[in-house]
Amino acid sequence: MIVVGLTGGIGSGKTTVAKCFESFGIPVYIADTEAKALMNRSKVIKRKLIQLFGPSAYVNGQLNREYLASKIFNDKTLLSEMNAIVHPKVASHFKRWLKKQDAPYVIKEAAIIFENNLEYQYHYIITVIADEALRIERVIKRDGVSAEKVKAIMQNQLSDKEKIKKSDFVIENNDLDISKKQIQDIHSAILRKIKKP
Ligand code: ATP
Repeated sequence: MIVVGLTGGIGSGKTTVAKCFESFGIPVYIADTEAKALMNRSKVIKRKLIQLFGPSAYVNGQLNREYLASKIFNDKTLLSEMNAIVHPKVASHFKRWLKKQDAPYVIKEAAIIFENNLEYQYHYIITVIADEALRIERVIKRDGVSAEKVKAIMQNQLSDKEKIKKSDFVIENNDLDISKKQIQDIHSAILRKIKKP
């Protein structure tokens, strides 16, 4: 099965773009959503996260995302310890999901691909970009956070310039109608590549 990675910075529109691929019948796996679901569902993950972060990691049995985010933001060691608990479970969940798919290719949306040198897991990689001011505006509107908070997250991510260099395809998602045309072209290009690699 051909696995196409879909990445991009905060607010670039990865999930919005992923939904467009879905409308062409392409199965989409959103790693962040699945990780969150597993963090709430898996007893093993729960136990290990409580060991790592303390009882505040969960409130009424539900993951306390804000608490975890505040803990890991400036602590790379804690972040890798959390990833070591969650990532292998997401990877095996993705493997099981992949076996059930019947399509020319699948899309796996993941915010972090290049940052952790995970390019080898994908046949092709698409990066979604958008103007910084637009991205900030979108996230403020979606999450009700401050511009400073969004900028701080952006600072922690690889720049678009670096991501573009390492990508097979780029979608400039400022205007959704224009993005849809690019998505259609990329979908056709991937189908062509699969037929004639
Ligand atoms: P994150 O990395 O934060 O999860 P993301 O890259 O997945 O974000 P989305 O959640 O798809 O981004 O988009 C962020 C917000 O911007 C959403 O509210 C979405 O509806 C909106 N949005 C995305 N693309 C566009 C667009 N082309 N025009 C207008 N609004 C958009």
